[in-house]
Amino acid sequence: MKRAIRSGHDLCKRLAIAPALSSSQAEADFPVFVPLEYVNRMRKGDPDDPLLRQVASSHDETLRSDVALLDPVGDLAAQLGGGVLQKYERRVLLITTGACAVHCRYCFRRHFPYETAPKGKTGWSRSLRLIEQDRSIDEVILSGGDPLTLADESLSWLIRQIGAIGHVQRIRIHTRVPVVIPQRVCESLLKWVRESAKPLFFVMHFNHAQEIDHSVAKSLRALVSAGATVLNQAVLLRGINDSVEAQKQLCLKLINLQVLPYYLHQLDLVQGALHYQVTDQAGAKIVEALRAQLPGYGVPKLVRELAGQQSKTPL
Ligand SMILES: *Cc1c(COP(=O)(O)O)cnc(C)c1O
Ligand code: SF4
Repeated sequence: MKRAIRSGHDLCKRLAIAPALSSSQAEADFPVFVPLEYVNRMRKGDPDDPLLRQVASSHDETLRSDVALLDPVGDLAAQLGGGVLQKYERRVLLITTGACAVHCRYCFRRHFPYETAPKGKTGWSRSLRLIEQDRSIDEVILSGGDPLTLADESLSWLIRQIGAIGHVQRIRIHTRVPVVIPQRVCESLLKWVRESAKPLFFVMHFNHAQEIDHSVAKSLRALVSAGATVLNQAVLLRGINDSVEAQKQLCLKLINLQVLPYYLHQLDLVQGALHYQVTDQAGAKIVEALRAQLPGYGVPKLVRELAGQQSKTPL
């Protein structure tokens, strides 16, 4: 992460693309942050590269819209305190850190007040007490930011603490780190995965088949071998993966690695990201075509997150 690229200008220079693609105004609001391991999978000289388009800033982000919100999915209203969010029955989401290993320009949490999230063991102790006190909770989701930006020592402690709560049956980790820096799936990470007292689910965030190279495949296999269930959620993004072919290639690569496509999310209407929007009809057509060409377990559910609903909303 120390070596990551931190400006659109540097990113374009490295890929031999005209810097007109980046916007310093957009970057003042949400800085560019892209690890080299991810940049190395981009095609040189191609401003339309599907990986580049997820992380390069653009003038479109500075356009303001009446339908876009700062907190489109109602995260603020769902806070129980101690960085714990609850929207749905039986499962809570814990904001473990504000840091991510990559800044995705379409991110719905780009305006989340991470300073209020708990920090380190002292902060998490309060979150753990909240979970301990509510016996209706049977699943804890570690999210952020990205939990895998934390040290293994902290994660291993957190997994042990959560695993020791009798009524928690499953632990889930939502992460994009293995997508951008697959080497993060190292031996010390695999150790706490193997040792977890409760079944561990990883929900990855791959959007495009080009993101999955040899090194990524190796990391995914290692997680599966360590006993984790690995799922994927993608976001439907205009000009990046909004075609049957792009989705099909992604799903095939995933299932061949025993990673199950879980959700295909419609973009959350966050301020600064509306240029990535795809219509619900176009999304539904893509998934319908996938259903005809892939095994049932290889087809993701097309959903949108609407604030105040009891689950993600199927489309
Ligand atoms: C999306 C989400 C979940 C997980 O929902 P699933 O449908 O179980 O994947 C849990 N909590 C919050 C706050 C969420 O936004
Ligand atoms: S890794 Fe996830 S939380 Fe972080 S910027 Fe990307 S989409 Fe947002």
